[in-house]
Amino acid sequence: MVNYSIRFTILIVDDQPTNIRVLGEALKNDYQIKMATTGEKALEIAGSEAPPDLILLDILMPGIDGYEVCKRLKQNPKTAKIPVIFITAKNQEEDETKGLSYGAVDYITKPFSIPIVKARAKTHLELKKHRDLLEDLSTLDGLTGIPNRRKFDDYLKMEWKRAVRGSYPVSIIMIDIDYFKLFNDNYGHSAGDDCLKKVAQSLNLASRRPADFIARYGGEEFVGILPNTFIEKAAQFAQRLRHSVEELNISHKFSLINDKITVSLGCAATIPTVKKSYDLLIQNADQALYEAKSKGRNQLQCVGIDPLKKF
Ligand code: GH3
Ligand code: MG
Ligand code: MG
Repeated sequence: MVNYSIRFTILIVDDQPTNIRVLGEALKNDYQIKMATTGEKALEIAGSEAPPDLILLDILMPGIDGYEVCKRLKQNPKTAKIPVIFITAKNQEEDETKGLSYGAVDYITKPFSIPIVKARAKTHLELKKHRDLLEDLSTLDGLTGIPNRRKFDDYLKMEWKRAVRGSYPVSIIMIDIDYFKLFNDNYGHSAGDDCLKKVAQSLNLASRRPADFIARYGGEEFVGILPNTFIEKAAQFAQRLRHSVEELNISHKFSLINDKITVSLGCAATIPTVKKSYDLLIQNADQALYEAKSKGRNQLQCVGIDPLKKF
């Protein structure tokens, strides 16, 4: 999720430290600045957990040049959306055309004018902020703030392909609040909304690995994707999710099985291949959830990699 309150970060890449210093001085009052004097270092910073919001990129550098850096940034889904502005001594029309064809948003020739660099940086950061906001609106659930069903579909598709390539397992957990209709009917819709938010947050906080993913699947149903995880580990994780909801201690006097809000969970895993579809994995997790409901709720049921094996 985008944090709109923090300052934007600009990464300045140039093999000449003097150029970096001049640009850094001009921009440091308005932005947080990161610097790199090689293409390799620039790619490392861009791919880190704290990526920049904009990259000012020199073209002529020893080692990987600016064109190549831009090309690699655009090929990597993690860095593809970071806007790149070339700042370069290469001032021929074909140089600029080439730079833009690699996916840069703008092209500034040296010697540059500081006010123009500042104005263009501001414009592209504003555009990026709006793009990020739109992306949030289309991929995050409006009520709970966690990823929505659409984001779940995208993420599963991506992880499925990756798992086919690497031949590693993917686990899915379906999670459904127990007797939530009775909660809504008795405590009111707004208390219901409040409960959904708390459950969503606790599920989200319980997922510790960066690749683990929790989304709102719809209504009072949530779903987890655990890449590179076998059923045994997924089951442990699912139990942790179940406990984290219990520990919220949300009173539910009308539940037929407990005096607080609980969830039922269904878990399934498989090693994806090109011939398999993830629909079956979701169906298996759904089936396991159905069993968890019919066996008394507030519990986990699993379907293993071997569909006949039960945990
Ligand atoms: P079970 O234990 O079998 O899962 O029963 P349940 O009552 O939880 O399941 P059911 O599917 O019958 O009811 C789900 C309820 O969830 C019905 C609906 O009013 C409520 N619900 C779905 N989405 C929302 C929402 O966004 N806000 C609120 N407040 N309630 C919602
Ligand atoms: Mg329910
Ligand atoms: Mg339901």
